[in-house]
Amino acid sequence: MARVDPHSYFDDAQPRSTRWRLRLRADFISKVLSGEAEILFDRAGGAVDLDTKGLTIKSVSVPFELAPEEPILGRRLRVVLPAGASSVVISYETSPTAAGLQWLSPEQTEGKRRPFLFSQCQAIHARGVVPCQDSAAARITYEAELDVPDGLTAVMSAGPAGDATAEKGRRVFRFKMPQPIPSYLLALAVGELEGRDLSHRSRVWAEPATIEKAAWEFAGVESMIAKAEALFGPYDWDRYDMLVLPPSFPYGGMENPRMTFLTPTLLAGDRSLVDVVAHELAHSWTGNLVTNATAEHFWLNEGFTVWAERRILKALHGDEAAALGWAIGQRELEEALERFQDTPALTCLRTHLAGVDPDDAFSNVPYEKGARFVTALERAVGTAPFDEFVKAYMKRFRFQSITTETFCAFVEAKFPGLLDRVGAAAWLDKPGLPAGAPRFVSPRLEELTALADGWPAGRRPDPAALRSAPAAELVIFLQRLPRELSVADCAWLDEHLKLTQRGNYEILAQWLAIAATSGYAPAFPRLRELLSSVGRMKYVRPLYQALGKTPAGRELAREVFISAAPAYHALTRRAAEAAMAKYPA
Ligand SMILES: [Zn+2]
Repeated sequence: MARVDPHSYFDDAQPRSTRWRLRLRADFISKVLSGEAEILFDRAGGAVDLDTKGLTIKSVSVPFELAPEEPILGRRLRVVLPAGASSVVISYETSPTAAGLQWLSPEQTEGKRRPFLFSQCQAIHARGVVPCQDSAAARITYEAELDVPDGLTAVMSAGPAGDATAEKGRRVFRFKMPQPIPSYLLALAVGELEGRDLSHRSRVWAEPATIEKAAWEFAGVESMIAKAEALFGPYDWDRYDMLVLPPSFPYGGMENPRMTFLTPTLLAGDRSLVDVVAHELAHSWTGNLVTNATAEHFWLNEGFTVWAERRILKALHGDEAAALGWAIGQRELEEALERFQDTPALTCLRTHLAGVDPDDAFSNVPYEKGARFVTALERAVGTAPFDEFVKAYMKRFRFQSITTETFCAFVEAKFPGLLDRVGAAAWLDKPGLPAGAPRFVSPRLEELTALADGWPAGRRPDPAALRSAPAAELVIFLQRLPRELSVADCAWLDEHLKLTQRGNYEILAQWLAIAATSGYAPAFPRLRELLSSVGRMKYVRPLYQALGKTPAGRELAREVFISAAPAYHALTRRAAEAAMAKYPA
């Protein structure tokens, strides 16, 4: 027995699944997917351990045994393939409370007319959607049929393969995913959706009420794909489509192959937040093509992707824009290091997660610390040789799932002694940010930092100049202000920079964190509104934390949570609960 992933029963000594055939029916009344999964294996005969969570197993075509529920992991489904049999058909249904599926009522959508369903399988929620070897160490191709109510459109992280009327009032959408993916990249969404072509290989999908805004915001995606191809080599997934979800989507984006899922909070109306698209697009290489084998090596996905995102930003918008991106990330990294000060081992790049839920270990550390480690490697060898290295790395490990050790061995073979020279051991296996980590400077960044640093001494920026500054500059200024300000200071900021009424969520969330920490009551209605309508954890978690600083804030948080929690995604609900658990009694 060789279990290679602390979060899965996947055993690499057993037959390995190579292909799924899914036939699932979406029932919006009972909030379940029901149907069959046929799983094909690379060889016949023997026991195979599958992961399941919350699934009701109705029948299995071969002998099986369902083990008791384990915390984090769920229930192991052991199927025993007879000699000569290399596939199994499992008939099952999902739980209405599956963490990987969110069923939205019409009121929770933009259009308010039809219900909506979307999946979020990373890190280990695919097992609540399909019984499977739910480890990134295992890859599968799949085909799927989704049977949904008429008038709704289904999309998946796959290529469409036609649709047809099923029984009266239902429609069946077919999909084929020819490229092998890890299970966490399985994705589906069902709703009232419209699509707009952005280029010969890219289309954006959204609710009718949002589609025009989305098509405008992401119009530049083809130039991003071109920059990413220059960095990494050819795009290997045929199409790059995007889906804008309802506001409860818990992440900024999810890199589901062929169909990136995005939060509508990116629709700022000025294309200022499309760095998230650069990020998800870059995952087409770093993450989806070359994949971390387990959550313990998550930095291989996210560190490389943040590095790539800023390289794309630099190619499109210049050095200064990239430097500001790094600066915003620096503050986010510092906040993450602070949040994990009681569990510093989780701030190593290489983590040890036996008994730890990957959703609890999730933070900005693998993203921002990881990206700084990649930059340290890049700076030590020079950009051109490093770019060659990255291309070779992509080529060598495409459609494979690898560990930190595999990565290090590859670096050592290409650049002997490099890992020692950059102090890789400290990056990978020591908490926090190593001394001598790469720094990112730009003239504008220094100005903004000086402006914010002058605040406590009573110096005030020129309001007109800052009010109309690019979003990233205003975010940096706000990030660098003290968290707790006087009511008069808050009023000055709000009046001169028009912060409470901002539609750009990065600016708004920075401001509301200050307002919440400072107990600035005039911003409370907007806080209530945001926390009641937006589920993106990047905003929800820090705002619940900030509200914990004052009695009035705690009262608001508890009250908002009671009314908003039923509509939160399971991940968002947990993040809010964890923040409130730290409130003083
Ligand atoms: Zn990412």
